[in-house]
Amino acid sequence: GPELERAAGLIRDVPDYPSPGILFRDITPLLADAEAFTVVTTELASLVGDADLVAGVEARGFLLGAAVAVVAGTGVVPVRKAGKLPRVAGSRTYDLEYGTATLELPADTLAPGARVFLVDDVLATGGTAAAAADLLAEVGATVVGFGALLELTALNGRARLGDVPVHALLTA
Ligand code: 5GP
Repeated sequence: GPELERAAGLIRDVPDYPSPGILFRDITPLLADAEAFTVVTTELASLVGDADLVAGVEARGFLLGAAVAVVAGTGVVPVRKAGKLPRVAGSRTYDLEYGTATLELPADTLAPGARVFLVDDVLATGGTAAAAADLLAEVGATVVGFGALLELTALNGRARLGDVPVHALLTA
């Protein structure tokens, strides 16, 4: 609808960040706009279905995930970068263009069989979302879906998510 189109217009394109040739989509202005933040949160929350929990990927996925969880009426779980959690249920290392990154889940948080809806701001190559989904599955959760604010479709990241239903509010 027009509200989502307006929200899309608030995403700022930043050339050559974080490295030359990369066009970074900065969602900060969208999050800072009350109407836009509300519409994207509400739309993502409508995808949560019967999930028990929303998981948000550090760091922008925390902002969206927490808001989505409140609207959907669930709790929220942080999928953290390595080294931030006092106790870890599991971790997963994945490849970046240069080097690797590691995601971790908190211990004693996800009950076996918990149904989790995963949230992040941008789906690019899909490496982050796939690692987060694999990690959730590894600790015994069921990932019922992944929702992103923005999907960079040319990178076909959704192919990395296997059987997990992928939803994106906006595409670029
Ligand atoms: P991927 O692993 O799919 O290549 O990259 C997605 C992850 O990197 C997400 O956690 C997302 O926050 C971040 N990311 C990659 N590209 C962008 C971008 O253009 N804009 C923003 N806001 N985040 C990005």
